[in-house]
Amino acid sequence: MEYLLDIKDKVSQVEELPGKKWFRKLDEAVIEAGRCVECGGCVAACPSGSIGVAPDGRPTLIKMCTGCSRCWDFCPRAGLRYERLWEAEEGIGKIQAAYTARAKDVIKATNGGVVTTILKTLLENGVIEGALIARESPEQPWKGEAYLATTSREILESSKTFYNQVMTPMLLDHSLSSVAFVGTPCQIQAIKALQKYPWEGSAAWRIDSIKITIALMCTRAFKYEKFAFLLKKKGVDLSCVDRMEVKNGEFTLKNKERKVIYKDKIHNFDAAALPGCDECADFSGRLADISVGGIASEKGYTTVLIRTATGEKVWDIARSYMEYAILEDLEPIVNVEMKKRKRAKRFLKRPFDPRGDINVEVTEHYSAYSSSDRAPKPLNPARVYQYAEVC
Ligand SMILES: Cc1cc2nc3c(=O)[nH]c(=O)nc-3n(C[C@H](O)[C@H](O)[C@H](O)COP(=O)(O)OP(=O)(O)OC[C@H]3O[C@@H](n4cnc5c(N)ncnc54)[C@H](O)[C@@H]3O)c2cc1C
Ligand code: SF4
Ligand code: SF4
Repeated sequence: MEYLLDIKDKVSQVEELPGKKWFRKLDEAVIEAGRCVECGGCVAACPSGSIGVAPDGRPTLIKMCTGCSRCWDFCPRAGLRYERLWEAEEGIGKIQAAYTARAKDVIKATNGGVVTTILKTLLENGVIEGALIARESPEQPWKGEAYLATTSREILESSKTFYNQVMTPMLLDHSLSSVAFVGTPCQIQAIKALQKYPWEGSAAWRIDSIKITIALMCTRAFKYEKFAFLLKKKGVDLSCVDRMEVKNGEFTLKNKERKVIYKDKIHNFDAAALPGCDECADFSGRLADISVGGIASEKGYTTVLIRTATGEKVWDIARSYMEYAILEDLEPIVNVEMKKRKRAKRFLKRPFDPRGDINVEVTEHYSAYSSSDRAPKPLNPARVYQYAEVC
């Protein structure tokens, strides 16, 4: 079996076409540099389906790279100036309504079971044919894996939050015409950008099938293996954990008997967080149709921000299955959003500029990052090309 290099390498005697950006550039600037937030944007952006996910959870080449540039252009840590997609720069962005809510049915969920109830209702009413969500790995407790649920039962069985990133965009090769997408704000950024600037020809991925987006508010995501390792060092066996709660900076684990088996400041797990999250200024999922989180609501309730006309329609269909009230005080959400923006401005090496050009050119990126502690690192052919076969 011959392993593959970029076309550029195979024809290295030939002068490179101007304007081409190869996966290699993204790999060096983001993935090898340790800044990848595992959103899957590059996977979904690649029209030839050349990017897959390696067992280490990071993107890798699985087929020939054609240098089409899209993986660079849609990566929120490289070519996508994600803040340029925001309609409103201030506060937590555009919202039509805010609620605190919980499911009327008893659902063993993270907060109020709102996401589960919305998805189940949409599916049962024929509004969607499936939902791109996360479900628990059969081998690793509390590790989320990408999943396309097409039945109410599958949605109910996945009513948990996994604090690792889940590469759901890699499931966009399905044949359904209408799905809901649940993900972290960075994932919604990539999806919305891809819908705004679609590939003109035939593409490997069904971005058009995403009709509804639900963002899980997010301060940072963890690398599962590091997270599990830290917990093991603290004497926690994840297979004994029945509930995992993160609220107001506190991290609590409970067993089946609802007994607290571990409590700590979430801050003490920073070493397990994805370093690229430090460059993210979007806590509240500004680009989604609906954003949800535990913040600003009582225990057992979910905070729900309805942002778009689609979000309003979804809420109208699902709300009779929930107990809810208008959420008056949005200040806690604004405060976390502002803290996160401050952090992003500190860690981003390029300027944070909601009015700048949507595209961060390779030259601009390299000149901002090259002499920093987030500098691009040389390509590791053993990692990038080990799954790529020449057809
Ligand atoms: C990495 C991460 C960090 C978060 N940080 C915060 C925070 O700081 N503050 C805050 O208020 N809220 C945070 N949340 C959101 C919060 O934990 C709940 O997910 C949210 O309130 C929904 O609760 P629920 O009971 O309505 O959802 P549920 O009814 O429990 O449903 C959750 C749904 O989300 C899907 N899902 C779970 N994990 C993932 C994932 N990683 N990727 C994609 N889909 C997933 C499940 O499959 C399920 O369909 C975070 C979520 C994640 C994934
Ligand atoms: S941050 Fe997202 S788009 Fe960028 S390389 Fe990682 S998975 Fe791909
Ligand atoms: S902090 Fe930002 S970049 Fe990191 S997982 Fe959450 S939304 Fe994505």
